[in-house]
Amino acid sequence: MGIPKVSEQLDWQGKRVTVAGLGVSGVPAARALHARGAVVTVVNDGDDERSRAQAAGLTADGITVRLGDGATLPAGTELVVTAPGWQPDKPLFLAAAAAGVEIWGDVELAWRLREPRDGRPPAPWLAVTGTNGKTTTVRMLASILTAAGLRTAAVGNIGVSLLDAVLGDEPYDVLAVELSSYQLHWAPSLRAHSAAVLNLAPDHLDWHGSMTAYAADKGRIYEGNQVACVYNVADRATEDLVREADVEEGCRAIGFTLGAPGPSQLGVVEGLLVDRAFVPNRQQNAQELAEVTDVNPPAPHNIANALAAAALARAFGVEPQAVRDGLRAFRPDPHRIELVEEIQGVGYVDDSKATNTHAAEASLAAYDPIVWIAGGLAKGATFDELVQASAKRLRGVVLIGQDRALIREALARHAPEVPVVDLDRTDTGAMSAAVREATALARPGDTVLLAPACASMDMFANYNKRGEAFADAVRALAAADGDA
Ligand code: ADP
Repeated sequence: MGIPKVSEQLDWQGKRVTVAGLGVSGVPAARALHARGAVVTVVNDGDDERSRAQAAGLTADGITVRLGDGATLPAGTELVVTAPGWQPDKPLFLAAAAAGVEIWGDVELAWRLREPRDGRPPAPWLAVTGTNGKTTTVRMLASILTAAGLRTAAVGNIGVSLLDAVLGDEPYDVLAVELSSYQLHWAPSLRAHSAAVLNLAPDHLDWHGSMTAYAADKGRIYEGNQVACVYNVADRATEDLVREADVEEGCRAIGFTLGAPGPSQLGVVEGLLVDRAFVPNRQQNAQELAEVTDVNPPAPHNIANALAAAALARAFGVEPQAVRDGLRAFRPDPHRIELVEEIQGVGYVDDSKATNTHAAEASLAAYDPIVWIAGGLAKGATFDELVQASAKRLRGVVLIGQDRALIREALARHAPEVPVVDLDRTDTGAMSAAVREATALARPGDTVLLAPACASMDMFANYNKRGEAFADAVRALAAADGDA
């Protein structure tokens, strides 16, 4: 009926494509489509100096750009390609849906533009999603694949864009792909070799509309998997998503667990990561992959990430030795459970990336006793569960940021005996004061842990800046300690 679906005929010549949003994914998408002969119009809400500069570059190449109106669908549009963050109920998308026009995100576009290289099929994707741990797991996976001698890269929601990886000159054997729930929402035809959902906790619900919709978008990652759907045994919701997925014949469900693994699972036995999934005769056999101490840092949630990465690598046929070598070679990204200094027997750990309660709960579970620095923008979260789960490990708490009262009230309800310092400050200098207060509460053997459970934007440009402020304050303390 009417306009043919672009997905049915990948001949781009003359196709009218609307790219929604300038920026990291929009500009390369527009150029890639224009280069293939599509008639591209970019629409953008903003009309500021930066957008105008970007638009000028595209216009010079013959691409139409419409600034200051991202809501109206240009007449004759046959396909919309959108930046992943755009809210799905935008008028542009509603108009596209009403007109029967397909909407693709940056991931879908990259998936569709893959081409054979040197007579070989395009590199398969090993894909990872989850509420927390995606970046870490994807980087661990890339490290393992590299140790196995494969040409690979960590790509997606993680620095290198998928489009660059797919269209660039590098001949990859396999890609380790991080996918956000937004990206999955707009990626209807993605078919990974194997994929993992690490965990599912409420996040970004304002965008998805409900927990059910959020879970359904995450679950898309399993659709059409060829070899393995990797799920978290401790998180039933991830296993349910595997059950609901329509996969290739013979594709297996593989669990990972911090306990002893059953058949078709990877897990932990006596300080070892073991594989009871990709071994002959898995009813009786298990294969040692690495020691828990090969995981950096060996915090429980990070061991779970390592097991998920190992499961995907093993599904791709990687040998046990490479799993161990890759995990040993892996270095975490900054501000993710990073030990900054040890001063007078107290460890100072920066987990500024713990921007939601689920992440903070994982990092609080990794230390005991803890002086916890928390607070910032709560994004609608509640803190009762987090405080209940962590209360017995808390030596004390220092609160900063706009929504700190929410945490203070949860502490009063569930941990009234824990001393709390409420800094009543949201200025950038508050972090030095927080570190001083935390130091006063700490005893040798304790950990001062920045795991805010909140976003940073009330006080800092981003979580990186928040982590740097913490690390600077700790180093200043160390220097003063050295002088004393
Ligand atoms: P993402 O890319 O999903 O944001 P990261 O690997 O950057 O995940 O880790 C973000 C934060 O989430 C970490 O700083 C840590 O606090 C927490 N985290 C990491 N892995 C897990 C996990 N498996 N479960 C719960 N929390 C985790």
